[in-house]
Amino acid sequence: MDNGSQVTNTKLDLSSQNQQKVLRSFKHQIDTLSQFILRLSKFYEGAIPALDKELQTLRGHLGGKINFTLAEVSIGKLTALLMENSDQVRLQNQKSHSLIENAIQALRENSGLPEPLKNDAHAFLRQVRQSQASVFTSLPHFEKALDLFQKALTNLQEHNKVCHSEEQPPLKDATLILHKEITNELRELISQLSTSAKEDQELKKVRDQLAKGLDHEELLECCLIIIRTILREVIQERKHAERFVSSLHSTLDKVSQSVSHSIKESESTFQLKTNNTAQLKQQVLQIEVAIEEAENLKLLRKQANEYLTKMAATLESREKTDQDEQRALMKLLNDMKDQLSHLEQETSEYKQRLLQQKYRSHHDELTQVPNRSAYNDRAELEYRRWRRYGTDLSLALVDVDHFKNINDSYGHAAGDKTLQVIAQQMSKSLRSTDFLARWGGEEFILLLPQTSKEELEAPLEKLRDQIAKIPFKFKQQSVKITVSIGATSFAEGDDIHRVFERADKALFSAKTQGRNRCVIDKGPE
Ligand code: GH3
Ligand code: MG
Ligand code: MG
Repeated sequence: MDNGSQVTNTKLDLSSQNQQKVLRSFKHQIDTLSQFILRLSKFYEGAIPALDKELQTLRGHLGGKINFTLAEVSIGKLTALLMENSDQVRLQNQKSHSLIENAIQALRENSGLPEPLKNDAHAFLRQVRQSQASVFTSLPHFEKALDLFQKALTNLQEHNKVCHSEEQPPLKDATLILHKEITNELRELISQLSTSAKEDQELKKVRDQLAKGLDHEELLECCLIIIRTILREVIQERKHAERFVSSLHSTLDKVSQSVSHSIKESESTFQLKTNNTAQLKQQVLQIEVAIEEAENLKLLRKQANEYLTKMAATLESREKTDQDEQRALMKLLNDMKDQLSHLEQETSEYKQRLLQQKYRSHHDELTQVPNRSAYNDRAELEYRRWRRYGTDLSLALVDVDHFKNINDSYGHAAGDKTLQVIAQQMSKSLRSTDFLARWGGEEFILLLPQTSKEELEAPLEKLRDQIAKIPFKFKQQSVKITVSIGATSFAEGDDIHRVFERADKALFSAKTQGRNRCVIDKGPE
């Protein structure tokens, strides 16, 4: 081997070593890249199903014996898929971002949130707003948001526990109580409206609806209808009052005109009479002069005749004036009498109207017994008497048992009739000094003056028994209807409200003990 070929061989060896080195380095780089692609594909797993499938294929080509040709095809498909989905991913990220933002904003505005949690939510909201929406920010944001909501929930649960331990009715219960109270109040209002208003079809419908039960929205609509009816009533009543007052004015005006006319007439008559008297005096004077200066009897007679004729004329005219005056006076008196009797008629009609109104405003339309407003007046009066004279006073609440069943089984009209009959029976059974009123719905209230706690049982038991014996019959079916009674007596330091509460509690225990019974409260604790 010559020197030249040795050099060449050495060069070839070196080049082959270099090539192997380069190839090793390539293989290493490809391995690292494949590993990286494998890890990356694992990372993206689950994001998009089509991508998942292709990534799995790519992993197959890169794992074990690497197949570059197939891997290249797979990478091409993946690139296309990624480009296709990148817009969708971006939108998804933005949606997640604003979802978190809105949720935190809502949490922050929650009035029940404690201050530190509110501040925390505020700081986090600022952080969310400043950050870019991306796959990498969404996850920690969701984690933080979840943490805040978890804390808020714990706080709410603790708060609820406190509320329950204070025995406050839950909001739903409180709303239901209010709903029931408004329903009763509206019924009470309707019962006080005038008969013509009650004939109103719309109001009739409202009354039926109230008895059947309504949801909040329907109740509000009923409130509006009743307010409108009351307004119409008030306007009508005002018109009546205005008509009455204007009629009163016009009558008084006519009377005053007649009187002033008559005064004027009297003045002119007075003037006439004064002139008349002056004339008469003048004529008498002339006769005297004539007598004194008379020269002969014949002339005197002639002159006297003339003067007497003049006087007779003067007297006649005076008499006529008197008669005219009398006639005018009579006419005036008659006119005034007419006006006054007209006024009297109007006043009595108006008085009647006011009396009817007073009756209506104090009586229940359905049962015709006094209503709650009448009870309030009477209770005030009896309470003052009790305080002043210290005589006994008792109060009882009467509630029809399972009354709802009567409505449900036999209709609302049957329910109405039942209430009328029970009210009649109670009115008959009570003493004249006792006071019965419809408290509302199927409840009645009794005030029993001069009745002590010990004397309560007998009349109330009698009342309960009489009601239980009423032979009600609906749809050819005999129906037994009973009442429960709760009663108590006024005692030292009581006020009407406290006594009512005690009677109500006694009524409740009569109900829980099985109904159709009378429970008399033991007095204040
Ligand atoms: P309880 O024995 O516990 O008193 O039961 P109840 O069914 O009598 O009591 P509840 O309060 O559940 O029902 C009273 C019913 O009375 C509901 C209501 O529709 C009806 N009601 C109230 N006022 C009138 C009315 O003027 N006429 C009629 N027909 N029903 C009325
Ligand atoms: Mg009741
Ligand atoms: Mg009842």
